[in-house]
Amino acid sequence: MIKRCDVLVVGGGLAGLRAALEAQANGLNVVIASKLYPVRSHSGAAQGGINAALANHPEGQNDNPGLHAFDTVKGSDYLADQDAVEIMTAAAPDVIYQLDHWGCPFSRLANGRVAQRPFGGAGFPRTCYGADKTGHYILQTLYEQVIKNHIETLNEWLVISLIVENKTCSGVIAFNLQSGQLEIIEAGAVIVATGGSGRIYGKSSNAFTSTGLGMAIAYRAGVPLKDMEFIQFHPTTIIGKNILMTEGCRGEGGYLVNKNNERFMKKYAPDKMELAPRDIVSRSIQTEINEGLGFTDPAFGGYVYLDIRHLGADKITERLPGVVEICTDFLGINPIKEPIPVQPGQHYTMGGIDTDKDGVTEVQGLYAAGECACVSVHGANRLGGNSLLETLVFGQRAGAHAAQYVAGRAKQKFNESLPDYFLKQQESRLQQLTMGAGPDKIGAGTENPYQIRNELNKTMDALVGIFRTESDLKYALSGIEALKQRFRKIKAPGIFSSFNYHLLWVLELEGNLDVAEAIVKGALARRESRGSHSRRDFPKRDDVHWLKHTLATYTKEGAVLSDRPVTITKFQPQERKY
Ligand SMILES: Cc1cc2nc3c(=O)[nH]c(=O)nc-3n(C[C@H](O)[C@H](O)[C@H](O)COP(=O)(O)OP(=O)(O)OC[C@H]3O[C@@H](n4cnc5c(N)ncnc54)[C@H](O)[C@@H]3O)c2cc1C
Repeated sequence: MIKRCDVLVVGGGLAGLRAALEAQANGLNVVIASKLYPVRSHSGAAQGGINAALANHPEGQNDNPGLHAFDTVKGSDYLADQDAVEIMTAAAPDVIYQLDHWGCPFSRLANGRVAQRPFGGAGFPRTCYGADKTGHYILQTLYEQVIKNHIETLNEWLVISLIVENKTCSGVIAFNLQSGQLEIIEAGAVIVATGGSGRIYGKSSNAFTSTGLGMAIAYRAGVPLKDMEFIQFHPTTIIGKNILMTEGCRGEGGYLVNKNNERFMKKYAPDKMELAPRDIVSRSIQTEINEGLGFTDPAFGGYVYLDIRHLGADKITERLPGVVEICTDFLGINPIKEPIPVQPGQHYTMGGIDTDKDGVTEVQGLYAAGECACVSVHGANRLGGNSLLETLVFGQRAGAHAAQYVAGRAKQKFNESLPDYFLKQQESRLQQLTMGAGPDKIGAGTENPYQIRNELNKTMDALVGIFRTESDLKYALSGIEALKQRFRKIKAPGIFSSFNYHLLWVLELEGNLDVAEAIVKGALARRESRGSHSRRDFPKRDDVHWLKHTLATYTKEGAVLSDRPVTITKFQPQERKY
């Protein structure tokens, strides 16, 4: 079956849904293809909130989008493109009011206005929230709009490749999980909104579905991945499971303490304390652990305590109900009465598919938005609450631009033979994959994909973490190269079966290996410390040589790096102090 539409959105998270709504509002025929049923996307796990300079909070009345932009740029360690940041922060208040008018149940102040809480690296309480389930509320709100507007969603369709010829994209090849068949979707424009790639790491707050396959697909189709070395480690994930304890815990007044019951952040960020940006708080926790000032769990390693007990039962139950649920269900403790054992965990990919401010990529008709994209508004370190905002602002812009692009072209003439050619190419690629050792030896592959994935996770956790060195990174790179070789003999059963999740994981793993290589190569090349990228052998930021974006371009021999200047408008780089 061949499906046709004007705009195809790949991914049903916040960025994808917002992009689809906008393209459809421009009068186009839009289809969403999503690996997951949309409301199961990782966006629904977002807890703490979304930033906008509404100036609603009594302590935030002097806030404005310009100050939000400054905090974002400073937080990014001056690597964000400042024109893009200004667009995002200026759009933020309207984004919140639109969600409000669509019925999103934000928490409220006593005067009825949308409530705001303090978050890391922000000059004022600027983070709008719905208790600690903000992502869930916004995702449901947008999905309601998608249903209301009768936008078709193809659920449980895994897009595995783009149809690109002459640097122009005209659709995708997707694996329909339900039928077990490969399908063609032809489209005037394709918007990739497939989320982050956190599960390249083992200790991650991300859903197991956040694998980065979408990034890998665009990368293989000729779009560079930008700034991949910048991986955010969230300071507070529960030990063992690495489920997130929202920054809202600290925003509401929670403490971080070491084994001496000392609020150690006073040593690292005396002004902002627990509300310093995430890169700084994560490094501080890791330093405490490394210096023997944390606690140790034999199975899960070092940790410190996140203590919210002094907030009192009423505030905790009202503002942080999800935190109570997670601690009860996964740790068997009650955070109203006991401190929470936490350690940093991978949380966010600042880098991604290289796009401009409208989601435009180097391939015509191909767009990207949300966590899979790098505009870049987060630079070397994202501020909490800015990601949900990014998905909506740049999802909308990508939808609008894609609609304009499709409308402006002569009615798309589909090249009849092209999609078939791509379909056959993918079929034979999958056949090769499932054959493992070679064309004659069906099913003869010996390598277990889950073992390879576990080894990749361990490599990334151990060698490409919060603190990095040249020798560790080189070791990681050779490890990834060896895993890529092993992948060539992967064991994967036949393709044409319903809900073949084994094949899905094999395809995701293939993407993981490409993306991981781009991360490590970027980290090796960047001989400085900036934001989340902290090199023990190059501990200082080096604006002379490294105030620039990294671009990784796919070749059969692996990622090739180049760079691009950072856009600076108002804010000249300064030393970051908190
Ligand atoms: C636990 C947690 C808490 C967070 N809390 C906050 C917060 O409080 N504030 C904040 O600003 N940010 C927060 N973030 C970050 C933020 O939630 C994410 O960056 C953002 O929601 C990503 O949205 P997205 O639409 O880009 O991707 P996602 O929501 O991850 O959606 C990706 C979509 O793509 C689909 N997909 C993926 N691959 C394919 C494929 N190959 N084919 C078809 N479909 C595919 C998936 O099915 C899914 O529908 C948090 C993140 C986590 C993990």
